[in-house]
Parts: sequence; structure tokens; C-alpha cells
Amino acid sequence: MRQLIIIGSGPAGFTAAIYAARANLSPLVVASSVEVGGELMNTTEVENFPGFPDGIQGPDLMAKLQAQAEKFGAEILYDDAVELDLDGPVKRVTLGSGRVEEADALIFATGSAYRRIGIAGEDRLSGHGVSWCATCDGFFFREQEIAVVGGGDSAMEEATFLTRFASKVYVVHRRDELRASKIMQERAFANEKIEFVWNSAVVDILGGDAVTGVLLESTVDGSRRELPVTGVFVAIGNDPRTHLVHDKLDLTHEGTVWVDGRSSRTSVPGVFAAGDVIDPTYRQAVTAAGSGTVAALDAEHFLAALGEAGEPEPHADEISGRAETAASAV
Ligand code: NAP
Repeated sequence: MRQLIIIGSGPAGFTAAIYAARANLSPLVVASSVEVGGELMNTTEVENFPGFPDGIQGPDLMAKLQAQAEKFGAEILYDDAVELDLDGPVKRVTLGSGRVEEADALIFATGSAYRRIGIAGEDRLSGHGVSWCATCDGFFFREQEIAVVGGGDSAMEEATFLTRFASKVYVVHRRDELRASKIMQERAFANEKIEFVWNSAVVDILGGDAVTGVLLESTVDGSRRELPVTGVFVAIGNDPRTHLVHDKLDLTHEGTVWVDGRSSRTSVPGVFAAGDVIDPTYRQAVTAAGSGTVAALDAEHFLAALGEAGEPEPHADEISGRAETAASAV
């Protein structure tokens, strides 16, 4: 049996893996069968991760984090966790392949998933003009007029990026002011290809086999109009990815996994959580990385205490020395 399994391969999961691996816990990272690296894999330039004054591409940053974790002995598994058994001292993770992995401790760092508007046409035309990822799909919209929905940093980033391809990008926002940071707002305002459509909700996405437009409803007077576009990029935020733990870990009223104060301790002993899945507020790559650090140190502390209590026997000597390191670092 392993000492530690980490579920998730974003900044939180990989940073937890770096710390845990350096503490000789030989963590297994369940990193996804589809795309390792989490949401930053869908990002272009990351300008605010400390240590990269010239910026770094999201996928490059994640590749560096993975390499750093592997260098210290983390094992990366390209599979998905499909079921968790968190009752009792042994934590069991069932993988997509059917294989079951067991550990004394588990770090849950599954991040968040793109939010959907929840309107007609959205699912039906997904992949046929409706997208959640400008870096993945922007290329298909050369010289076309498209819409980005949302008013936060993601929407500004997507809209700005999409002007590389599209002839025009409408940013449709439900209010008359943006939530995005000043620098992202200013960049979007300065871009001649971007036009803002204020106080408007997208209530339908139109088209048969492909998007032909969106139906907008004024959030001021309820009036409706069609905006002809061939692409719709939804950038209205994310929801914590908690489906694996709904009935297993306590959640907050915001839907994130509950943790005890500033720690990563969840409602189940031996299970720790980190990153966007516990964070309804900051949700930055660097805060997720910090959160992963906390989880690794908490897990290390937990495993050391377990060792001192007499189990698991094989790791006891190794771990007890590290308990002080973990405690003093927290
Ligand atoms: P966000 O900050 O939560 O913004 C979501 C936007 O979508 C808001 O403007 C919101 O409108 C709108 N919205 C939410 N639900 C909607 C719905 N059902 N219909 C229509 N509009 C809806 O999410 P985000 O932009 O994804 O950013 C999340 C976090 O990541 C933030 O902390 C952000 O700073 C960070 N981030 C940073 C960068 C960067 O620094 N490069 C890039 C991307 C994201 P209201 O304003 O009316 O609520």
C-alpha cells in the first residue's frame, strides 16, 4: 500500500507532489486520462506566476511542474479516479482502468470545471460553434464574427486572444461593468476588434448544425434581439469539481470542499484538499500551488503521526523525523 495518493494534476496537485516527493512519500499522482496539467493547459501567456518576469505559456509551466515532481520521485498515472472509498484508515481510489490504488492518505486537488450558461443550444452546438476554450478552438474562427460571454478575467483573456483569428469579437456581459482586473479590462478596451454588448444575457444559441447567432435579452428592460455570430465562447467562471466526494466529504455552501481553517484537512481524517476545489475566492495558479504545499505538509504530518502510533510499520522511522519539519513549516 502507498502512503499518499494525489488526485489532480493542476498547480495544486503537482505542487503537493513536489513537496510530498521531496519528503520521500513517493506519491502517486492520478493525473487524468485526457489532459494532464489542469486548466492552465487551456491558457496562453501566464504573466503573474512569480519567477517568470517575461511570462510563460500555461502548458510550459505545467510541464515544468510535472518534471519537478517526477524528478523527486512522484509517479504520474495517466488515468482518472472514478470512485473513492474514504471510509476507514485505508483510502481506496478506483481508476478508469478498473485498477484500485490504496493509500494511508489522500490529497484531493481536482480543480474546477467550466461553468455552463444552461440555455437551449449550448449542449447541442457544443463543438459546432460553442466552445469553452479559445486556445483550443480559436483557430477555427478565422475572419469570423464571434461572441464571448462573461465579464471576468477569463472572458477578457479569451476575447483578446480570439482577436488573433476573428474579424470581430463581441463580449456579451450581463451588467454594465466588468468583474475583470483593471489590466485585463484595459487591454480589451484598447483592442479595436472587441465590441462590448452590455446589460445583455444570452438566452438562446441559434443554429441547426452550426451556430448562426445568439438571442440576447436586455437585463434592463427585457427586450430581445438576435446577434449574428458563428462562434460562442462561454467564459463565465468555473465550478469546483466535487462529484467524486459529494456524499463523502463535507462541502461549503459555495460548493467547495470544506477544510478546517487555513489547513487542508477535510471532514475525513487522512483526506486533504487543495486548490480551486476548496477556493471560492482567489483561484489563481499561485494560490493553488500554495494550497498544494499546505496539503502536502498536512499529509506528511498526518502520516508521521500515524507512524508514531505504530502504523504503517514500514514507514515509521522514515516519517517521524519529518514531523517536526512539517510542523515548523506550517
Ligand atoms: P469570474 O471572475 O467568476 O467571472 C465570471 C464572469 O461571468 C462574471 O463577469 C459573471 O458576471 C459572469 N457570469 C457568471 N455566471 C454567468 C451566467 N450564468 N450568465 C452570464 N454571465 C455569467 O470567473 P473567471 O473570469 O473565470 O475568473 C476566475 C478566476 O480566475 C478569477 O480569480 C480570475 O482573476 C482568475 N483568472 C485570472 C487570469 C489571469 O490573471 N490571466 C485569467 C483568467 C482567470 P458578474 O460579473 O455579473 O457576476
